[in-house]
Amino acid sequence: MRKPFIAGNWKMYKTPVEAAGFVRELIDSLKDVNGVDVAVCPPFPALWPVKEALEGSNIALGAQNMHFEKEGAFTGEVSPAMLQDIGVKYVILGHSERRAYFGETDELINQKIKAAFTWGLNPIFCVGETLEERERGITKAVVEIQVLKGLAGVTAEQAENLTIAYEPVWAIGTGKTATPDDAQEVCRFIRELLVKLFGREIADKVRIQYGGSVKPENIKELIAKPDIDGALVGGASLKVESFTAIVKGS
Ligand code: PEP
Repeated sequence: MRKPFIAGNWKMYKTPVEAAGFVRELIDSLKDVNGVDVAVCPPFPALWPVKEALEGSNIALGAQNMHFEKEGAFTGEVSPAMLQDIGVKYVILGHSERRAYFGETDELINQKIKAAFTWGLNPIFCVGETLEERERGITKAVVEIQVLKGLAGVTAEQAENLTIAYEPVWAIGTGKTATPDDAQEVCRFIRELLVKLFGREIADKVRIQYGGSVKPENIKELIAKPDIDGALVGGASLKVESFTAIVKGS
């Protein structure tokens, strides 16, 4: 049995002061929740105050991106060593906004995923097709390339700490959600790819989240699907009430 995993991707929202206040409310709101892993992924400047606010709680800290090098002349970048030092547990890699607006390729994402494992960080590796790709009927082909290139060189042992987020690009921030059946079909396909890469035992341990306009109203039917183990939540993770309702619905 895989434990459900709900992660909030705050994107470029909340100042450090706002973020710390928010998590204090969230901790209180989630204090009776058991049996679900929960993480929040604030912007970089908020990581430290959020880490301090989360101390002693059952909510984990995640980051939204990182460079693959330990350190160096890479102006504006943040390294895995820095995230590890703060106490970050998860790092979102390959988000479609990074791919679309910052030119991240499968090869770059692969370097980042390998670096995350080297530094003991657990990647939340995002894959998903655009609307045009879905309409052309090539969703699985696109996702297969993203998964195979993104995970090249990853060992079965490392993969035990992997989370994959299936996020159809057309569903992110649009209010459109994939139907639970459509999401399940792609998540099952991803799991079969993991079987080929790492064997059935490991593939059955990897959590696959769905992401794309997840709300309190749709989480129950998504999480009811056998290969959907949680959600990566954008917009609805920015409000204590909606994020709490999603966690409680998991
Ligand atoms: C995301 O940013 O990963 C996401 C799924 O966003 P939203 O929930 O707002 O669609």
